[in-house]
Formats: sequence, structure tokens, C-alpha cells
Amino acid sequence: MPETYLVTGGAGFVGSHLVLALLARGDRVVVLDDLSTGHAAAVPEGALLVRGRIGDREALARAFAHGPFRAVFHFAALSLVGESMREPYRYMAENAREGLALIEAAVAHGVRRFVLSSTAALFAAPGTIPIPEEEPVDPGSPYGESKAWLERALLWAERIHGLRSAALRYFNAAGADPGGRLGEDHRPETHLIPRVLDAAAGRGPPLTVFGDDYPTPDGTCIRDYIHVADLAEAHLLAVEALADRSVRYNLGNGTGYSVREVIAAAERVTGRAVPHVIGPRRAGDPPVLVASSRRIREELGWTPRHPDLETIIAHAWAWRQAHPDGYGREEAALCGGPDRR
Ligand code: UDP
Repeated sequence: MPETYLVTGGAGFVGSHLVLALLARGDRVVVLDDLSTGHAAAVPEGALLVRGRIGDREALARAFAHGPFRAVFHFAALSLVGESMREPYRYMAENAREGLALIEAAVAHGVRRFVLSSTAALFAAPGTIPIPEEEPVDPGSPYGESKAWLERALLWAERIHGLRSAALRYFNAAGADPGGRLGEDHRPETHLIPRVLDAAAGRGPPLTVFGDDYPTPDGTCIRDYIHVADLAEAHLLAVEALADRSVRYNLGNGTGYSVREVIAAAERVTGRAVPHVIGPRRAGDPPVLVASSRRIREELGWTPRHPDLETIIAHAWAWRQAHPDGYGREEAALCGGPDRR
């Protein structure tokens, strides 16, 4: 039986890939997004787009009027570590306020399952690498702090109202839909892989490597890059697990790559040089973040289909080459109107 889901931030990078996966199995999807960072053109055909902020009660009411929803997936948030170090109070206030408003509305509308996009930024200086779920939460930035709060808020929503939740701590979401329908388009783009690819394509300035004096083998930061389609799959599994209990999972491939290794892999994939310079460290960046995904593999049978870094980069490159303006062209072709089916 098709089910109906609410996806906040469904016009964004990870959210839009989940919408695609839900629609592919025949479910109905309502996207709530204010398009502040997302793109109407990224909302796959067949989903209903409700434009508005989560913190706006009228927008929430418009979205929930399309329910009842089997589950709410909450992607919409401010999500940049570096920016959160410059605007700490905006990050903590907005992410907490909007997340709490959504949790409250979900409870009020009888929703029983809630999936939170959480983050590797919960762990500033992990004692164990790859990082297991038992690692104490110790955020390295106001962004990470805001997600830690929402994880805590969901514990209370379960204790008080019985709302089951999954907190999925994404490590570095990357890649693009293997079918080429969706990709990554942030404005401005701050993430490593799209910036590396733009440098390779000569579309942007040379890449600045943020620090090469970290305590890692080549001095650059190590991250765990995970294919966005594998992340979407993890959401589908997590929402089923909520039939029995609430869950918290760290989500990555379990393999870390340094910034230099990402550059080298991109050069192999694209056959082009990646012009780059070494710059200062970016505030808030821990040297190494690699996930242990053993728990979700064992408990839910999640297996990444695209764990290979070159495949992740190849999918991102294919989309970017086909869409040099990102969603710009499709966006211009979309007729306005507040909501869209
Ligand atoms: N990075 C970099 N230059 C850039 C963008 C990112 O050296 O132009 C580094 C960044 O310091 C981090 C890694 O690449 O070590 C991944 O950064 P990204 O912003 O993609 O993701 P984050 O780890 O912050 O979620």
C-alpha cells in the first residue's frame, strides 16, 4: 500500500534523493521547503512542493493538511560547519526552533515516526575511529550542537508522546543520483567534491585546501564520503525499524580519505588536473571523521551500493557536466506559484 510522507528540505541535496527513492517505490511525498538553499527543480516530478518555513505555523499547517503522514523526514536546516562558527547564535536558534516546531506539529498531527538528519559534527575529537554510536556526543561547532539538541529533544518526544525517531548521523554526503536525474547544487558551494570538480572543469578558482598541518599522514583532513543514494536507502530502512524502537546510527562507508586523496581520485576520474593551493585551516574542522556503520549494517542489513570513492566522484562529475549551471536552467523554466505538484 502506498504511504504518504512529509520531507522537509526535500528540495535540497540529500532530501531530494530520498524523495526520488520514495516515489520510485510508489509512495506519496509532500515536500516542505522554503527554497532558501534548495531548488524547486530538484523536487522530483510527482512530489507535492509546499513552499514555506518550518517555523511558520501557517506553512506547517498547509503541509500537514496533506497528511496523515506515516513519517516525517527532517532535512531542512542550516548545515555548514564553518558558517556556524561565524554565526553561532543564528545556527543554534534557527535549527533548534524550527526542529522543535516541526516535532511539536508532528506530534499534534498524530505522526508516530520521525527521522532526523543528524551529523558527524556531533563528534569533535572522537576517542575511537571509526566512530561508533557509543562515542560520547561532543560537538565541535554550533551546527553540531544544534543537531545534538534535536536528538535530545526527540528523546523527550518519545518519553512524553511516544514519537519514535531515527537519528541518522551523516558523514560526508556526496555523489549524485546514478540515473543522472539529481545532483548537488549549493549556492555558494562549500563542499569539497563539487569544488574539486569545478576546479577540474575550470569553472571556479583553484581549490583552496583548508590546512595541510593536521595530524594525519599527508597533513590534510580525513573524511568519510558516502554516496547520497546509499544515504537515501538508509532512510527507507530506518523508518521501518521504528516499528519496534527508536534508533541512532552513524552513516558512512567506514573508510576515510584525505583532501589530497580526494583531489587525486578526482584527477583520475576526470582525466584533468585539479588546480589547488594550500590555505589556512577552516575553523571547526576536526582532523579525522570516519564512521563505524557496523550497527546499521548488522541491525538493518544496510549495505552501501556505491562505497567506492571514484564511483561517488564519477556520479557527481556526470551530473555536473550535464548541468554546468546546476539546477539554474530547469529552475528558470519552472512557472512560479506558491505550491507545485
Ligand atoms: N575542504 C577544503 N577545501 C574546500 C572545501 C572543503 O580543503 O574548498 C575540506 C574541509 O576542510 C574538510 C573536507 O574538505 O576537511 C570536507 O569538507 P566539506 O565542507 O565538504 O564537508 P564537512 O566535512 O565540513 O561536512
